[in-house]
Amino acid sequence: MWRLKFRSPTLVHLFPSPGSIIRISSFNYSKVMSTADEPTEVKETSFPLDTAAREILVLSCMDPRILPSPARVLGLPAGAAFTVRNAGGRAAEAIRSIVVAQQLLTVKEIRVLHHTDCGLTKFRDDDLRAKLIADPPKPDVPITAAVQSLSFLAFDDLKQSVLDDVAFLKEHPLVLAKSKVSGWIYDVYTGETTRVI
Ligand SMILES: [Zn+2]
Repeated sequence: MWRLKFRSPTLVHLFPSPGSIIRISSFNYSKVMSTADEPTEVKETSFPLDTAAREILVLSCMDPRILPSPARVLGLPAGAAFTVRNAGGRAAEAIRSIVVAQQLLTVKEIRVLHHTDCGLTKFRDDDLRAKLIADPPKPDVPITAAVQSLSFLAFDDLKQSVLDDVAFLKEHPLVLAKSKVSGWIYDVYTGETTRVI
């Protein structure tokens, strides 16, 4: 068993400007990676929860290397933000949850978090479509129509993908007009998080 320790969240500016970097300096990244195969129990310092901070939703890739959590690598206290995760952290797939979070919950701010070495940069949509058609998941079930209608939202340029998803959300007719929307990149090698917009 090991224990993660974090700096007090009061030491981390919650709204840094574009280009700035968040370092959760006491986050022992190498320890996390070296114990990846061991049973672990993660305990975090218990911060008093700021209910106002629950106006934040983090949209993140599902990649398990975003440790200890998408909200925490953005410097947010444990339990303070809603989180939506999918392959690539893409806004087009997350829009259903975001509309629910704004209309039925309390979300007014969205932080888009993509990351280095993302699997979505390693293939193209047509590659995955071709793979599925060549080796259908259910051999006797036709899948051509289903495959052609599904976008996998792969991308080439990491920074541009963040900018695109921020723009998508700002322009989406079902996202609240006064929403704060920002874009971030998490480096899976260094544990640093950088704001890009
Ligand atoms: Zn990813």
